[in-house]
Amino acid sequence: MARKLQPGARLVLASHNKGKLREIEALLRPLGIDVVSAGALGLPEPAEDAPDFAGNARIKALAAATATGLPALSDDSGFCVAALDGAPGVLSARWAGPSKDFSQAMALVHTRMGTSDDRRAWFVAALCIAWPDGHTETFLGRIDGTVVWPPRGDKGFGYDPMFLPSGGSATFGEMDPEHKHAMSHRARAFAQVLAACFG
Ligand code: IMP
Repeated sequence: MARKLQPGARLVLASHNKGKLREIEALLRPLGIDVVSAGALGLPEPAEDAPDFAGNARIKALAAATATGLPALSDDSGFCVAALDGAPGVLSARWAGPSKDFSQAMALVHTRMGTSDDRRAWFVAALCIAWPDGHTETFLGRIDGTVVWPPRGDKGFGYDPMFLPSGGSATFGEMDPEHKHAMSHRARAFAQVLAACFG
């Protein structure tokens, strides 16, 4: 049985990524949860050295929960390309370099794909809720689609402009946030968090 969070509970969002914070806050807003970000509390960013999304999500949530004595929710996510054996994957943020330049990261994906006919790609999100006593729950969400080039749209963040979800005609970068939130990897993982921890 997952532990429940009650309306009015204080929850730390264990992320320093503005795009993710914006999306997760929008998902939590209707639930009456008092959300505070790790950045606002001055928490350091722990090293994300696990080999998979779930492991990194756990590292971030546990670090924030033990530092604050509050339950903490983290997101570890990334963009995976079939022709690159799943890269950039857990290295998605790092491909953008120290200046967090995602035009550069998208160009790198495009260059490394070369002339490959395999355009399949997907986003994965691992959401982890950790409690100060070390208890954790982790949930995974995924959305499949294809890589487009050149990138299209400026509404999202990260790799959104080069990702076309299966069956759609607009990239994540061209979609209004509500539309992306209705189908994204993060929303799919969040639906499981809702059912398990807010039900
Ligand atoms: P991390 O989880 O902080 O290691 O960073 C994940 C990286 O994956 C982000 O910096 C983005 O570049 C990318 N990413 C994760 N989710 C999304 C998304 O919804 N849209 C676009 N890029 C994403």
